[in-house]
Parts: sequence; C-alpha cells; structure tokens
Amino acid sequence: MKTFILYHIRRFLLFTISLALFSSCSVNSEKEFYTVGDFPSVPKIDAHFHYNTTDTRYLKFADSLNMWFVSPNVDAGRSIDEQFSTASMLKKEFGDKFLFLGTFPVDNFGKPDFAGEIIERIEKAMKYEASGIKIWKNIGMELKDQYGDYVMIDDPAFHPVFEYLQEKGIPVLGHLGEPLNCWLPLDEMTLGNDRRYFQNNPQYHMYLHPEAPSYDDQITARDNILDMYPGLKFSGAHLASLEWSVDELAERFESFPELKVDLSARIGHLQYQSLENPDRVRDFMIKYQDRIMYGSDMSVSERSTDYGRMTANLHQRWMDDWIYLATDSAIVVNDLEGQKVAGLKLPASVIDKIFFTNSRNFFSY
Ligand SMILES: [Zn+2]
Repeated sequence: MKTFILYHIRRFLLFTISLALFSSCSVNSEKEFYTVGDFPSVPKIDAHFHYNTTDTRYLKFADSLNMWFVSPNVDAGRSIDEQFSTASMLKKEFGDKFLFLGTFPVDNFGKPDFAGEIIERIEKAMKYEASGIKIWKNIGMELKDQYGDYVMIDDPAFHPVFEYLQEKGIPVLGHLGEPLNCWLPLDEMTLGNDRRYFQNNPQYHMYLHPEAPSYDDQITARDNILDMYPGLKFSGAHLASLEWSVDELAERFESFPELKVDLSARIGHLQYQSLENPDRVRDFMIKYQDRIMYGSDMSVSERSTDYGRMTANLHQRWMDDWIYLATDSAIVVNDLEGQKVAGLKLPASVIDKIFFTNSRNFFSY
C-alpha cells in the first residue's frame, strides 16, 4: 500500500514538473515583457555565429540555454573547403539547431567562367543543406581587377550569380562595406571595439587608404544590387553597414521591401544612439520588428581550448544583449567608455521575432 501511494505521489510530481517546464518553454508567451530570468527558457537563434570547430560542446552548451545557431562560412581565415566540411558535418548531427551558410572564393575574378564556378559552389553548398550563402567584404574592399581597380559587388561579373540566387530563392547574407567609423580617424570613432579592431587591422582602416572606395561607394554598390534584384532574399549583416543611424536604415527598409538585417557586432551602435534618444531606437525596433535578426558575430574555433572561459564569455554577451533588448535594466557598456545604457524593454512578442521567428523564416530554404 505504501509503495502504491509513493508511486502516485511520484507520478503527480513528475506531471506537475513537466507541465511547468512545458509552459516556460513556449514561444508564444502570454507575458507582455520578458525578464532577465526568462533568458534560458525562451527559444533563441544566434543568426550570425562563426562555429569553426568540430568540438560540439559549445553547441550543446548553447542548446542548454535554448540558443541555436546560424553559422556563416566566410572567404577568410580557414580554407572555405575546411569550413564547409566542418559545417556540413555539424548540420548532419544537429539538424535545426545548427544552420550554416556556404560561401565562395573570388580568386578567379576575370577568368572566363568566373560566375559559373561560383554558381557550381553554391549548388554544392545547397545540396549539402546550407541555408544560404554569405558574401564578404573582400568584395569592395580588397578584390582588384586586372587594371588594379577595386571590384564592387555591383560589378557585371556578379550579375549571373545574383540572377541565380534570386531565381532559386536562396537566402543571402551580405557583409558589404564596414561601419562608418572605418573611414574616420581613430580618435573620432564612436565605439571602443571599432577603434581596437582598426588599430589592429590597419589594412581595413579605410581612413588610411583614401585611394580605396569611400563609405558611400560601398553603400551605393550594395543598394544597386537590391535595386537590380528586388526579389533577392537579402540580409545585410551588421545592420547593413548603416549601424550609425536608425533613420538611414529605416530609409533602406522603405526602399527595399525584401531587405532584412542582423544585429551582429553592432548592438553597441544602437546603444550609442540609445544614449541620446532611446525612444527613437525603440520605435525603430518595433516598427521593423519583422526585419531584424539577433546575431552576435562571436566565434568558436579549434583554438578555443578553455571551455569554461569560452562558455562564460558567450553567456555573458548573450545576457548583455538580452538585458538591453528585452528589459529596462541599465547595463555598463565598456565600448562606450563604461557609460550606462538603459534597456529598450521591447515587448515579448517583438523579442520572439528578433530572437527566433525572423531567422527561422528567412533561412528556411
Ligand atoms: Zn561575421
């Protein structure tokens, strides 16, 4: 009899616990706003995360916080083929929790079948279940033609590629250009992390290279592509390089109905604008809630050997971004010289879109 009662008490407890877990995991939260404590239970996607290792512990760690990944391959660092084989392997194992984007090299620019070879690579990536294609800033900022002139993304050599991408409905993540700070002297840059990056990478600090295309040249070339291919599924990485002004970005959203953006590595620029006018940033995020995807631009690689430190960093960054976007708590922003920025407290329904649904929809191919 005693065993029988114990059995029923246990069953009742298990049932209550699973019910509580189920309701706390639901995307369509009844809540109007999320709290700091809601972070682990709400489904999220880091839609710009460079997963460059076969070590799956970070994926499992992220999953324990209900965070999934979109990992873009990039025409930089490890060879594209190596990145591709890591990504397609992880994709097989983790399915929906790990999406990846293929990419292509541009070394053969000017050769007869340049576009054809790129298309072949894209086809292969999509066959191995890539969720789209990443285009990198080396186009516009590094690649030169036979006369030594910079090649921009609207160069006719790329037209067959964009025609193909548009026709097939393949999602494109375009990191084109750089933040406006890149064209300013170090002491005029608005954020500490930009200052550090361009100090360490002077080859990309365009203020030092007046012969290279201007900031406006980069933006114009990208906008030309959006004009020419209005059906292209295009997301502008890093707030589409218009990170310095939500008004500028709003103008592009109005001009190009298919345009989406990710927040990766540019949340500091929103926070900078928040300091002066928090309502303007908040209104912008709410108005364009269907077109913005959360992303961090963090990475893990074979060199990430300190698991404890690495996961602490990931957790910290995701939490800081969550606090800024979902709550009205103030956070100290090191890149803004330690100034305190109040959170935007976006409605839970908007947070669900930015952190999950928008990426899910955009990258479903
Ligand atoms: Zn990136």
